[in-house]
Amino acid sequence: MKESHEAGRPLVLVVEDEPQVRSIIRMNLEASGCQVIECETGAEALDVVQEQEPELIVLDLMLPGLSGLDVCRRLREERGQRDLILMLTALAEEVDVVLGLEVGADDYLTKPFGAREFRARVRALLRRARVTKAAYRIIPLGEGTDIDLDQRIVVHGGGELSMTGKEFDLLVHLAQRPGRVFSRQELLNAVWGMDFVGIDRTVDTHVTRVRKKLRAALGESEVIETVHGIGYRFRRPVEA
Ligand code: CA
Repeated sequence: MKESHEAGRPLVLVVEDEPQVRSIIRMNLEASGCQVIECETGAEALDVVQEQEPELIVLDLMLPGLSGLDVCRRLREERGQRDLILMLTALAEEVDVVLGLEVGADDYLTKPFGAREFRARVRALLRRARVTKAAYRIIPLGEGTDIDLDQRIVVHGGGELSMTGKEFDLLVHLAQRPGRVFSRQELLNAVWGMDFVGIDRTVDTHVTRVRKKLRAALGESEVIETVHGIGYRFRRPVEA
């Protein structure tokens, strides 16, 4: 399952429960020079998107459990517009298409579709993905301060705020899903790993340090909010 990004070969996630359709899609994507990851369920897809940041998601509408619409909706809620989604619908019914576009799919194709049409759509979306993904490599924090994900630094006024690796990872994990509340345990798992045996205070002390460092750049505007009794969430800066 785990495939690393190969330079120059866009990573595409295919979410489709029918093995036959999945393998046809894979074949076409690979023929177009893409690297492919496959998922059978929506729940699995949500995890893979988070971990692997594919350039494009080919998402079937009819899936067992979470439907394609649910997945699309969840991705938009948690990750804004950073993912490009090509929705596949089984029926030419307008209602599917309308719904798909309503929850934020970038394009749709009705099954069965021809290889040429599919590849043309994929090419067009991948062109867009390059622009979209590049923009998302920078997360603005306001007051001229940005997280630069490629360089793994927080930039401010031509300089850089010094942070430890864990402090940076914690900030990024929150900032990539603005508005989403994370429990301390979730943050421990995500930043320190499942095996981390620690106490909740670890998260708290790191949040305190990150806030203190950000204060030098952001003044009193607080991007990491405490949600009492639950944990923390990132609040988008107003100007960004
Ligand atoms: Ca299906």
